[in-house]
Formats: sequence, structure tokens, C-alpha cells
Amino acid sequence: MHLKTLTLRGFKSFASATTLGFEPGVTCVVGPNGSGKSNVVDALAWVMGEQGAKSLRGGKMEDVIFAGTAGRPPLGRAEVSLTIDNADGALPIDYSEVTISRTLFRSGGSEYAINGSACRLLDIQDLLSDSGIGREMHVVVGQGQLDAVLRATPEERRGFIEEAAGVLKHRKRKEKALRKLDAMQGNLTRLADLTTEIR
Ligand code: ATP
Repeated sequence: MHLKTLTLRGFKSFASATTLGFEPGVTCVVGPNGSGKSNVVDALAWVMGEQGAKSLRGGKMEDVIFAGTAGRPPLGRAEVSLTIDNADGALPIDYSEVTISRTLFRSGGSEYAINGSACRLLDIQDLLSDSGIGREMHVVVGQGQLDAVLRATPEERRGFIEEAAGVLKHRKRKEKALRKLDAMQGNLTRLADLTTEIR
């Protein structure tokens, strides 16, 4: 599995549609300060489901939408698509190439798609987490984050390893199921109270 192309339109400094192609192996992005290198990395994290505006170096999620320049007005939406080569079947989906897309509208709405079909954010996160690329985005290590990894507590380190091993997804599902069970237990107690009252 490797990343093939990344297309940005209206994302941060990339107002016009811009496609970057990647070959297998190491890719280096070079350019002057402020030219948008980190914005490319932000776009990768964003399309893979990043939910924290701070992780994307912004104050709120809307900050990822092109905010305009002296010669160009702001845009109403940010779109990013990532095409992944899945010839080795690392992603649990029956396609040798998978394109995931994310769009955010300035009005607040979001759209997600897998190979052009609308889906939920959860579907993208689930698809990627089976390959070790999870929602915590430990595969995208930004400037300064290496230090945080080195200083992580044993519990946090365990979290990184669990995510890479695909355990985290099942832990989250278990937590969700336990929350539902808890709520259900509350309903049952309420039902028992009502039954007693009626009798
Ligand atoms: P450095 O080498 O200094 O780390 P860089 O190449 O990584 O720089 P980025 O941080 O990716 O640069 O890009 C910063 C540029 O992106 C700034 O000029 C900033 O104004 C621009 N930018 C960020 N968000 C937006 C936005 N929403 N709309 C328009 N431009 C934006």
C-alpha cells in the first residue's frame, strides 16, 4: 500500500486545484518558508479524518478553507482527495485503488466519500484503522511532535503501539458498546420503576 496522489482545492494556501503525485519510497517536499509544505501534511491528516483544528495548526476547523489573499477572494469550501494504491489489499475493501475525499463548507457542512460514494467519517476511519492508520493520526508526525513521542508516558506509548497493531479500534468499539449497555441498563431500571408504579 502506498499513497499515489493527493489533490487539494481550496485547502489552506492551495486555492486552485493542485495534485501531488507520490512514487513508492521516500518523498521529500521542499520549498521556501511559508510556501505551504506543512499545509500538504495537514491536508493528508485532514483527509484521513483528523478532527482536531489544533492538530491542523488552526483555531477552528473552518481555518482550513482558503481565506483569500490580496488578489483572490476567500473560497466557500475546502476539498482534499487522497488516492491510495491498494494492490496488496492492505485496506479491507475490494478495490486495487482507493480514493478517499473530504469536503468542508464554510456554512459548516461536511461531506466524505470513498471511491466517489458518499460515506460517513466513521467509514473512512474504520477503513484506514485496519491498516494501522488510525484516527489518532500517529502516522503523521509534525514538527515538534517527535519530542512529544520521546517524552510520552508508558501508557501513551502503549496507545501508539495499540493503534499501529489495530487494537485501538476494537477498544473504542468496546467502549462504545459499554456506554450503550449502560444507557440500556438505565432504561431497564426506569421501566422497572414504572411497572411498580402501575401495579
Ligand atoms: P515553514 O518552512 O516555515 O514551516 P511551510 O512551507 O511549511 O513553512 P506552511 O506552514 O505550510 O508553510 O504554509 C503557511 C502559509 O499558508 C502561510 O502563508 C499562510 O498564510 C498560508 N495559509 C494557511 N492557512 C491558510 C488559509 N486558510 N487560507 C490562505 N492561506 C493560508
